[in-house]
Amino acid sequence: MLRTASTVDVVIVGAGVAGLAAARHLTGAGVSVTVLEAAPHIGGRAATDEIDGFRLDRGGRPLVLSPAELRRTPGLGGLALRPFAPGLMLHNGQRAQRISGARSTRGALSAARALVRAERRSDRWTDRRPEGRGDRRTDRNGDRAAPSTPADRPVGDALAHRPAFPPRAHDAFLRPLLGALLCDPRLRGSSRGAAQALRAFADGRLCLPAGGASAVPELLAAELPPGTVRTSVHATSVSTTGVCTVEHGRIPCRAVLVATGARDAAELLPGLRVPAFHPVTVLHHTAGSGRGRSAPSRHTALILPADGPVAYTYVAGAIDPSRTPPGQSLITTTVLGAAAALPVSVLDKTVRPQLERIYGAATEDWRLLTSHHDPYSVPAMPAPHDPERPVRVLAGLYVCGDHRDLSTLQGALHSGRRAARALLQDFGLPDRAEPNTLRTAA
Ligand SMILES: Cc1cc2nc3c(=O)[nH]c(=O)nc-3n(C[C@H](O)[C@H](O)[C@H](O)COP(=O)(O)OP(=O)(O)OC[C@H]3O[C@@H](n4cnc5c(N)ncnc54)[C@H](O)[C@@H]3O)c2cc1C
Repeated sequence: MLRTASTVDVVIVGAGVAGLAAARHLTGAGVSVTVLEAAPHIGGRAATDEIDGFRLDRGGRPLVLSPAELRRTPGLGGLALRPFAPGLMLHNGQRAQRISGARSTRGALSAARALVRAERRSDRWTDRRPEGRGDRRTDRNGDRAAPSTPADRPVGDALAHRPAFPPRAHDAFLRPLLGALLCDPRLRGSSRGAAQALRAFADGRLCLPAGGASAVPELLAAELPPGTVRTSVHATSVSTTGVCTVEHGRIPCRAVLVATGARDAAELLPGLRVPAFHPVTVLHHTAGSGRGRSAPSRHTALILPADGPVAYTYVAGAIDPSRTPPGQSLITTTVLGAAAALPVSVLDKTVRPQLERIYGAATEDWRLLTSHHDPYSVPAMPAPHDPERPVRVLAGLYVCGDHRDLSTLQGALHSGRRAARALLQDFGLPDRAEPNTLRTAA
């Protein structure tokens, strides 16, 4: 209906989950879409590598999701989930302590409530200030600034001001849990984002997508008309009327949506704010056939050590056996903060003694299958954080991705749908897509 001189209505740059969610929303509304992806595969950061029959995620984060919530998520209703054991395993360096599902839920909720109370106290203080609450400004890059209230403050400060637990429980439970949920071990991010993550943890379930994180973008892409996604096409510049590419020259269209990570987006859209990032390194080990001294214990809980360098670890092959060849084990370990930048050979040597204590297994026979270091893995959410940054740059030019929302899978999906809605509005087309239900999850 919209086609005139252009062969396609909308070009989306980037086939990560944000771009694919937007493409799904737009094609569902009858708009023709081409998605250009620079890499030879779709998925962006939600990628899974296949090595020696193992399926290895480049990011090691578990999903925090309930099956009911998943069923209601546009495009992901069919995703098969493999749940972790309820609760958490805390490891203090010597001993492991199992926290039941009910206790970890109660703990997460009381911490979330403490953060909200700390926010309200700041609100009362703020309301006496002349600028007041809810005052919204635009920063020099044209980004809408977050509300100017100091109520949303760094989560570490909020917890110091309004402790949720005695110091021991804070160090053994809350700090590692928040570090794992937000990839922010120093707890410098937004207290509001942390409260939301804790509530999502309490409401949902830790799980892995069966077969690897790439199942998420693959499911989204499977619903697009054939030929919509073109991989190994690198966009070099964008305007409201087309995209220039290295491989195919200029592709004309009626609107462009930039759905890359924050740094690539700022290259295509100069002036866009680039956030700081939390670096993440993921290591995947196998202990071989899983028998004898080097076999990791078979528990399927998320293990949170009180101290680094390991931020969290789990026996991925026990939670999702489809990630390993038959009879093999797979242990996935995530390192955050400064240690994540260590050369992999050093990091591997550094984590093994800790993994040995955690799993009660000798690790000298373990084989490092692969590791993945991404210094730009997770956009930081410093307080005050606006989880709905504008997605319309100009009429005809839009931007989405986890850097416009919460730095999570759900944030990326939500930003893609927000951008698609803004675009449909500018095209004067009705929005027939399903309601968004994933908004509250971290
Ligand atoms: C199973 C799973 C669990 C997760 N769990 C969590 C969680 O609990 N919490 C959390 O915070 N996050 C989580 N994540 C991370 C979340 O996936 C990321 O925030 C999200 O994948 C980011 O998607 P994106 O589309 O915004 O960006 P990206 O994935 O970075 O996609 C951008 C794409 O753009 C492409 N591109 C860049 N430049 C160009 C160019 N010039 N031309 C063409 N293409 C270009 C890139 O190659 C890339 O494919 C999880 C992910 C998965 C899959």
